[in-house]
Amino acid sequence: MTEQEKLVSLQQRRAVCPYPDCATGTVMDMVDQRMIAPESREYAFGGFGDEGSLPVHPHSSWTQQECWVCQLCGRSVLEVIECKQTGWGKDARIEELTRLVLWPSPPPRVLPPDVPERIRSAYEEASRAENAGAARLAGVGYRSAVEELCKDQGATHHTLHGKIQELAAKGLPADVITALDETRVVGNDSVHHGVAYSAEELADIAELVAEAAVLLYVQPAQRRRMAESRRRRHEAAQQNP
Ligand SMILES: [Zn+2]
Repeated sequence: MTEQEKLVSLQQRRAVCPYPDCATGTVMDMVDQRMIAPESREYAFGGFGDEGSLPVHPHSSWTQQECWVCQLCGRSVLEVIECKQTGWGKDARIEELTRLVLWPSPPPRVLPPDVPERIRSAYEEASRAENAGAARLAGVGYRSAVEELCKDQGATHHTLHGKIQELAAKGLPADVITALDETRVVGNDSVHHGVAYSAEELADIAELVAEAAVLLYVQPAQRRRMAESRRRRHEAAQQNP
């Protein structure tokens, strides 16, 4: 790997296109890649052979931007990547720390309409923070969605832990309680210890909250709707024997 290749080599990759109306597993071509911090340039660092190495010094960590084009729909995807290099020369390895999609801006996660608005809005805000790479804020946000959910379920204890225990005592299913408690721990770390969770951990938490919301609001609402339509069928059958 030459120094120039590290940043400039144009590549292809397989990925799911982030445009909702494409959203297909596709091949993407990288059409642009450059370092944007700590300086703006198109290569990782200097040393283009004997004649005329450029007056640039190496960075062991940097941020780069990449523009990819979907081969199916032909639209562009803009990403910002934080990179770290370990080792030098032939031992050099580049590690990708984070990769954010800036364009098209990713839609936030949303809960189904059967879930009360206060829970849905806290959840959506947390997801927007997650999309923006604000991991601590997202952790705090998902925790507050859980807090709203507990209040809506009638829990009144002053701590979130206490509220979740109240719901457990009311006979909420054990898997819901476990899901809520895991979210509480992440939120706690974010609020009190400033711990930022990884993208995968935040995605897990978001899914746990969604799972609890489905069990508590969506499934009961579906059962109510089905019972209601059974009742209407029976009434109609009685009126027209
Ligand atoms: Zn596409």
